[in-house]
This record gives sequence, structure tokens and C-alpha cells, in this order.
Amino acid sequence: MTPVRIDANRAAGTVTIAWADGHETTYDGPRLRWLCPCAYCRGEAGMPGWLDTNPTLTSDQTRLVDVALVGTYAIQPTWGDGHSTGFHTFHLLREWCPCDACSRDRERRAADTTGAGVGGGERHWHGGHR
Ligand SMILES: [Zn+2]
Ligand SMILES: [Zn+2]
Repeated sequence: MTPVRIDANRAAGTVTIAWADGHETTYDGPRLRWLCPCAYCRGEAGMPGWLDTNPTLTSDQTRLVDVALVGTYAIQPTWGDGHSTGFHTFHLLREWCPCDACSRDRERRAADTTGAGVGGGERHWHGGHR
């Protein structure tokens, strides 16, 4: 789960991460925004967050303005609407890698654990504290 290279492409609004195991992932703005793990977006203490209401995101809300590195464990994107409270940990980013191979992996694991905490297990990737 360790990145060896992180490229933020402001023009394209994407973030590309090269992983230590040779895998490489490009996240576009909407993808990253939907992964925002902050308390507002994801909820906390069992309460649903804003993203759980399946909102229609505006172009501002999915426009990547800036990306900061947080320690050695996360990135913190700033969005066109000013939102910047989400720490996307590398663990979370790799977990939700949108490529075909990883998507298939996720489906397989979801199928394996049917009834055994699906959803519950995925939700505590909180990126830390601000
Ligand atoms: Zn958020
Ligand atoms: Zn992948």
C-alpha cells in the first residue's frame, strides 16, 4: 500500500499513484470526491454522511484544485467548492483502485463475505484527524 510516486495533474484534474508493487492507478476528480472519507461526507458514529444521500455533485464539487500530501500515509485534496477535510489514506485509495483487476477483486471479496459485515468492514477507513 505504499506509493512510490504521486502525480497530481491539475490540468486534467487527476491524481496518478504508482505503487511499490508496480501497480499504477489514476483517479479522476469525481472518483476521488466520492471516496472522500471525512465525517461530513461519510458520516460518523453510525450516522450517514452527505455522500450517503447520493447527491448530484456539481462540477465545482468534483473539480480538483489542489492535492497536499499528509505525512506519509494520505493525500488531502482541495475541491472547487472549498471542501478539503478528507484525508484519503493510501490504504483507502488502493482499496478502491478503479482498474478492472481491482474491481474484480473487490467483487470477489464482497461475494466471499456476504452477510459477514459487508459495508461495515469498508467504512472505517477514516483518514485520520484534522
Ligand atoms: Zn468530505
Ligand atoms: Zn488496480
